[in-house]
Amino acid sequence: MLLKSTNPQDAAYVSFKDATLKCLPKTGGLYVPASMPDVRHIIYAMDERTFYPDLLAPLTASLLESEMDSAAARRVSDNCASIQPELQVLDERFSILHLCRGPTGSFKDFGITFLSAVLEEIAPKDEHLVVASSVVGSLGTSLAHAFGMRKNISCVLLYPQGDFYGLSPQMLQRPGGGGNIIPIRLKNSSPDDCAALLTDLISDEQWTGRYPTTSANAINPSIFLPQSFYYVYAFIKLKKLLTGELFFSVPSGHFGNLISGLYAWKFGLPVNGFIAAMNVNNALDDLWKEPQTQKRIPARTISPALDVSYPGNHRQLISLYNEVPSVMRNMVFPKVETDAETEDAIDYAWRRYNILIDPHTAVAFSAALKFSSGKNFDGHIVILSTGAAAKAPSLIRRVTGREIYVPAHLAELQKKSEPLAEIPCELDFLESAIASCF
Ligand SMILES: *Cc1c(COP(=O)(O)O)cnc(C)c1O
Repeated sequence: MLLKSTNPQDAAYVSFKDATLKCLPKTGGLYVPASMPDVRHIIYAMDERTFYPDLLAPLTASLLESEMDSAAARRVSDNCASIQPELQVLDERFSILHLCRGPTGSFKDFGITFLSAVLEEIAPKDEHLVVASSVVGSLGTSLAHAFGMRKNISCVLLYPQGDFYGLSPQMLQRPGGGGNIIPIRLKNSSPDDCAALLTDLISDEQWTGRYPTTSANAINPSIFLPQSFYYVYAFIKLKKLLTGELFFSVPSGHFGNLISGLYAWKFGLPVNGFIAAMNVNNALDDLWKEPQTQKRIPARTISPALDVSYPGNHRQLISLYNEVPSVMRNMVFPKVETDAETEDAIDYAWRRYNILIDPHTAVAFSAALKFSSGKNFDGHIVILSTGAAAKAPSLIRRVTGREIYVPAHLAELQKKSEPLAEIPCELDFLESAIASCF
């Protein structure tokens, strides 16, 4: 697959491998596919009896085939099969797509696992690679899981002001020995500030000349393209049951997940639309109405991974929009949910369907309830469950009165961690802090 920049002045095409290793184009913008693989023959050949790994292998090959031999593409898909989506049909209107059964209870485990498997094949063996990420929630732990044992990769995690959790001291990279994880706290910073500093780091050619650096956020095609696979999976599991339109409701912060869904559609998935389910931070509204330089501090909510005012993937979204705005307006339906509505959805899901859902999933559930409430609606909505309910036990208990079992691997995520460095949110400080770990 070839990719190009969202910057229309930049006509260069790059390979999937190159865009994975250097995920920001030199002239600004983000990488988007220059042409779409058509996966309809895969979608139509499979049905509800298909096992996820049997879908994963041909989809992986369709992204990588011209750049990797089929044995390597097979190794990539085998390495990703350890974490699987699971579709639960609730009734004729709703299904839940469980994406939170991986090591850190977040859908981000899917993209990270794929990136890790691809880098295993393509990272230059004679070079040390830096994988840097601006981190919310358990993303840092997800990266530590995927990359923790790698000799030739260091993981830089940029945390905003505040506490963070789930990294043990043995994982940390110190000069002369230890692990390969470099958590850095940026003083007085928001998650948006961390994302902006990450962009500065990987755009600094002097830096990347010395320390090749790529991102593990959803701007990397090895994150946002494989996330399209589970949308395809949901469809093949459902297709015999569907009688009307199909929608996905996606809890949205940086819109990486939503963009993945839109690519699944571009690759040939028959879907009628996506509900962009946001909390009161309503970043999409901002994106359409205001100049993109306008920044505001996001409000804190009970769905913190959606507390975004400046989405990292906005350029890709705009670029999809600008292709055919009228089509996109009928494809993406923004919905905004308050904390009270989110709690109501947690309560409703428990009482009506006997399932305990996390607050991010509940934002999507609440949006799906609103979307389907019109009297003419006869479609089906797949609600993406992006986070595990066991990561918000006290909230779930307060809203539903139910105790929730917290498995050991998720309990680990609650252990407070210390950064290796705490620095001002400035590029010079960041570069010297990373360099001092080698
Ligand atoms: C990151 C995250 C989201 C938001 O995904 P985006 O791709 O940033 O829109 C939603 N839910 C959970 C649990 C997350 O960790």
